Amino acid sequence: MDTIFIQRTDIGRWLDRLAEERTVFAPTRRDGAVVYRPYRTGFVLELDAMPTTSPKEIVFPQNETLLTYSRAGNASGGAPKVEARETLPEQKAVIFGARPCGVNGLGVFDQVFDNDKTRDAYYTARRKDTRIITFACDRPRSTCFCTNVGGGPGDAAGSDVMLYPLGDGFVAEAVTTGGKAMLSLATGAPAGDREVAAKALVETAREAMPEPLELARIRENFDKCFNDMEFWEEQSGKCLSCGACAYLCPSCHCFNITDEGTESEGKRLRSWDNCMSYTFTAEASGHNPRAAKAMRLRNRVGHKFVYFPETHEGEVACRGCGRCIVSCPSSVDIRQIAKAIQEYCDDDK
Ligand code: SF4
Ligand code: SF4
Repeated sequence: MDTIFIQRTDIGRWLDRLAEERTVFAPTRRDGAVVYRPYRTGFVLELDAMPTTSPKEIVFPQNETLLTYSRAGNASGGAPKVEARETLPEQKAVIFGARPCGVNGLGVFDQVFDNDKTRDAYYTARRKDTRIITFACDRPRSTCFCTNVGGGPGDAAGSDVMLYPLGDGFVAEAVTTGGKAMLSLATGAPAGDREVAAKALVETAREAMPEPLELARIRENFDKCFNDMEFWEEQSGKCLSCGACAYLCPSCHCFNITDEGTESEGKRLRSWDNCMSYTFTAEASGHNPRAAKAMRLRNRVGHKFVYFPETHEGEVACRGCGRCIVSCPSSVDIRQIAKAIQEYCDDDK
């Protein structure tokens, strides 16, 4: 498909046009973080920094109402009348300024919430008409390792339009027909030689990414170190169990369901949960199968690098975005843990 060059100063005009048809979620700064918010004219876009949060919150909000219910007495003395009303979302959206790792995170959601056995009506209602405009990364952060886990700074999988940064603008390329329609609303000039130059920057970034992890060895060694609690206590020693890693992760998808209300009316809510929290596996009896944070960290890392791949043809659930590394208040680094598993040797134990 044709590529065009869009000046940075013309991006706002493009988003204005897109926003006439769809809710556009775009990156902006709030309290020191870069987050996605609904775009409107005058919005201050953040076009360079990697978003702190990931696009998952647009198709899987932190909190959502699944249904409302009411219970009324029966005048004839029979059973009370209970009524439940499902509140399915309607969303026609554009995620502007996703990064390839964030889009790849949605790939995990698609497999978990929209497969032959499980189809989550709330997730699919938002996801089905959400289009994605992605920035290729020409300057990955030192914490990025997407190439270690099957991605890359120019990975277009799952995106409708790719934007390659170059000087005072972006080379824009439509990936899908939906992307072509969106790009037709942009003001731009033929990209010409700029396409090669912009893609070369991203390729240089890809080549500079860190040495790949040995994913097969990590999977093999995980079994060996699983019961070595000294090893897991060392890995989790600094962890505070705050859950920031799971909340910011583009592929973490665990949730909790709670009811709020009175005897006569209320609502059922779904909220993000996180496996680093003590209460995640606490049982009503008081027993907790993952009472120690070492067990919880082992589960989180195990899910990303072992359990998810086991059921998804080897695909690692970590997308290498580095968000958990950047935002962990204790500097826990999942790359170092993965490397420690990779190098684990139980011969001398
Ligand atoms: S962000 Fe860091 S401290 Fe918080 S739960 Fe995750 S690893 Fe532990
Ligand atoms: S585990 Fe960390 S590096 Fe991997 S996708 Fe999640 S936030 Fe990104």
